[in-house]
Amino acid sequence: MKSLKKRIIEEGHALNKDVLKVDSFLNHQVDANLMYEVGTYFKDYFKEHGITKVFTIESSGIAPAAMAALQMDLKLIILKKQNSKILKGEVYQTTVHSFTKDTDYELTLSKKYIGKDDKVLLIDDFLANGEAAMGVARIIEEAGAKLSGIGIVIEKSFQPGRKILENKGYDIYSLARIARLDKNVVEFLD
Ligand code: 5GP
Repeated sequence: MKSLKKRIIEEGHALNKDVLKVDSFLNHQVDANLMYEVGTYFKDYFKEHGITKVFTIESSGIAPAAMAALQMDLKLIILKKQNSKILKGEVYQTTVHSFTKDTDYELTLSKKYIGKDDKVLLIDDFLANGEAAMGVARIIEEAGAKLSGIGIVIEKSFQPGRKILENKGYDIYSLARIARLDKNVVEFLD
C-alpha cells in the first residue's frame, strides 16, 4: 500500500533494529483517512473468505480493524489484555507474551462473542514474533471457530511471526513489509 509506505518513510521512527514507532498516524494520533484506506485494502483482499467477524487486540489494532469491519459490514470484537486469569467459565483465555512490554498478559474473549460457525478475520497493527496472533488462534480453535485470515498493517518480515503463522496454514495479508530496521533506517521488502 503506497500511501502507507510513504507515511512510514516520512514519519516512522526506527528506535533500533527491532522496534518502529509510528505514533503520528497509527499508535498515538490516528489518521482516520489513512485507516479508512487500510480498511478498504483488507476488505478487498478478504472479500471471498466468507468472514463473519473481525477480531483485534486492544488497543492499537482497533483503528484499522474498525475501519475494515465498517466497510465489510461486520461486528468488531476487541480481545482484552487482562493482568490475571478469570476463573469463571464465561471467557476464553490464553497467556501471550507482549513484544513491546516484554511481559505476559491474559488475552481474554467473552464466550458470548464467538460461535462455532464463525470465520474470523484478525487485524492487528504490527506483526513481529506472531505471539499475539498465535494467542488469538488458540482462542478461536478452543471455541471451535475458524481463523480465516490475518490482516496486518505493518509486518516486520525479518522477525519470525509470518513464518510461524504460514507454517500453521494461515492466510496473511500485510500492507507494508519491512525487510530491515536500524536507527533512522527503514527498508521495505519490495
Ligand atoms: P507479536 O505478537 O507479533 O510478537 O507482536 C505484535 C504486537 O506487538 C502488536 O500487537 C504491536 O502492538 C506490538 N508491536 C510489535 N512490534 C512493534 C513495533 O515495532 N512497533 C510498535 N509500535 N508495536 C509493535
